[in-house]
Amino acid sequence: MASLFQMKITELKGVGEKRGPLYERLGAPTVGDLLRLYPRAYEDWGHPVLISAAVLGEVNVVRATVVRQPEEHRVKGGKLLYKVTVTDEESDMTLTFFNNRYIPTLLKKGETYLFRGKVTGGFLRKEMVSPQFLPEEKAQGVVPVYPATQGLSSRMISSAVRNALKLLPQPPRDPLPPQLRKQYHLCHLGFALEQIHFPGSEKELELARTRLIFEEFLLLQLGLLSIKNRRREKNLHPVKNEFPTEFTKLLPFSLTGAQERAIREAVKDMSGPSPMNRLVQGDVGSGKTAVAAALCYCVIQSGMQAAMMAPTEILAGQHYASLSALLEPAGVKATLLTGSTKAKEKAEIYQGLQTGEIQLTIGTHALLSEGVAFQDLGLVITDEQHRFGVEQRSRLAHKGSSPHLLVMSATPIPRTLALMMYGDLDISVLDELPPGRQKIETYLIDSPKRPRAFRFVQKHLDEGRQGYLICPLIEEDETGMMSVEEYGKLVRKCFPTAAVGLLHGRMKSGEKEAVMNEFSSGRLQLLVSTTVVEVGVDVPNAVIMLIENAERYGLSQLHQLRGRIGRGRFKSTCILITDAQNEDTVKRLKLFRDTSDGFQIADADLKLRGPGDFFGSRQHGLPKLKIADMTNDLEVLKKAQQCAKELLGENRLMGEEYRELRAEVKRLFEKAGNGGTPVL
Ligand code: ADP
Ligand code: MG
Repeated sequence: MASLFQMKITELKGVGEKRGPLYERLGAPTVGDLLRLYPRAYEDWGHPVLISAAVLGEVNVVRATVVRQPEEHRVKGGKLLYKVTVTDEESDMTLTFFNNRYIPTLLKKGETYLFRGKVTGGFLRKEMVSPQFLPEEKAQGVVPVYPATQGLSSRMISSAVRNALKLLPQPPRDPLPPQLRKQYHLCHLGFALEQIHFPGSEKELELARTRLIFEEFLLLQLGLLSIKNRRREKNLHPVKNEFPTEFTKLLPFSLTGAQERAIREAVKDMSGPSPMNRLVQGDVGSGKTAVAAALCYCVIQSGMQAAMMAPTEILAGQHYASLSALLEPAGVKATLLTGSTKAKEKAEIYQGLQTGEIQLTIGTHALLSEGVAFQDLGLVITDEQHRFGVEQRSRLAHKGSSPHLLVMSATPIPRTLALMMYGDLDISVLDELPPGRQKIETYLIDSPKRPRAFRFVQKHLDEGRQGYLICPLIEEDETGMMSVEEYGKLVRKCFPTAAVGLLHGRMKSGEKEAVMNEFSSGRLQLLVSTTVVEVGVDVPNAVIMLIENAERYGLSQLHQLRGRIGRGRFKSTCILITDAQNEDTVKRLKLFRDTSDGFQIADADLKLRGPGDFFGSRQHGLPKLKIADMTNDLEVLKKAQQCAKELLGENRLMGEEYRELRAEVKRLFEKAGNGGTPVL
């Protein structure tokens, strides 16, 4: 098998130089990859029905004989149309094909074919438009459907796969050795590859699928875990194993139990034998920032520097404001570094970081710039990690020599998935909100009720509170949705006495910051904004949020948005406005209205949108999953995780019988090029 990954796809029988690039585009530059290009579906040709039994409006397979040579018709625009009459002895059916000049040569009078397509027409005369067809003798059982592309049909791929299978040694070397297959009830690789492409039966296909899914999860998990093990290098930045009691005195509140636990876990890591790699996962508002501040404090007290990276300038600015307010009284020198930092100031910051005079720097991607170098970087923190790739995380870490790493994420994900997504990290969960928080009331209304909602908002402004009005677009577009500018005008008219600010992604960062500061300080009462406020923004006096065109957002995004309110001691309300009628949309929004638990929401989101979106940005730098599905194949995932742990824990993986498996892990991760090659 391994050698087939060396064999270029163009060397395969039937694949010429011309089609080579097409296969490459599909992710199969080699013969080995082609065998791993699994069908995305299967068509059952094995159970043809009589024309009389074919169900109208559904896809049916019918065995029938061509009665007359296809008749050619010319229709409007010079297009060609072919009508073909076929019979199964009992009844006739009409087939229509458009613009396919080959029909007369492909369908011969007197010959029998299987036709597959949606049945239209009526009970008296059934029809199929542009059905697929195969000569009777070629149409056997289940036919694989591949992700075809322009110039490369599923059928061509299928025949190339047939040729590729012939090149496999019999039996091929299996990266999963016999005792492991036995332990986990898995079939042999050779059987799995045969069956996944050309299944003999449902049952055999299922066996093949399970085996391949298991293998895929296992490889991913082994790779991630061994990257993590590799980081078990020496801890070059030890801190004292002491809870930072001095720090807690700087806080205006006392820590929650969960915050305290997370800090203890992290301090233990940082004082241990190897660098910390920890994820702090906590729902919006659970107080991740205080945890980050505590750890910065520890590291800085031990004479080292800390850096924190956030995905937006607003957020970086806000973290800077809160961390510097907390830590400067303790003598910490902190700076903010973003894309809009002026050149002169930038130079000073670079200088200060290099000499160690600046102990804490908070910023955006700007922290990754060439000029940024540290005197002694002890701790790297990335906030809202789901917006960063593995690669960016490690680029910041490489600014130091094996610094401690803390990743903060507000996306609550089930633990098994977290293990896969963040398989290379230890996890602390903030499962407790600061005391005194009230449940956020959420309402779902349609736009005719907007005036009432506005009056409700006004009432809160009168009581001295603030509010967010979220609308989706920057500019007016043809869909009739309002732009921030337009909406702002409406808002100003409806709230003539209120101080209203506008915020959107295309503003210059200085402007954004100014608006945000005015809102934070309470000078602005209402903030009309796009989702730029989505991530992390913290204004406890803001207690009301109105979201226009709520149907436009995914559940997790809504949850992030709603997390901007309910942050202080006042009761908060979120109002979703939508005129959407679509059943699924309404269901989704109602679920959101009735649920405040981030884990439940993330779960539902995962089910609704599939893992693609969810893992999208995060998967960057990880091998792509070809057959396994993080949500649907959870049972297999758990088994594979178990297996990976056993193999690494007992050091079995280094045995001779696992040579093939080790090589596979390496190959996958090297291909993904995430800069972290597993050491096996
Ligand atoms: P997130 O986890 O969403 O990043 P933040 O760190 O922004 O949450 O904290 C949300 C709000 O809760 C902030 O106003 C913060 O000052 C406050 N807060 C954090 N921890 C506590 C606590 N233990 N007691 C009271 N308020 C807290
Ligand atoms: Mg936050």
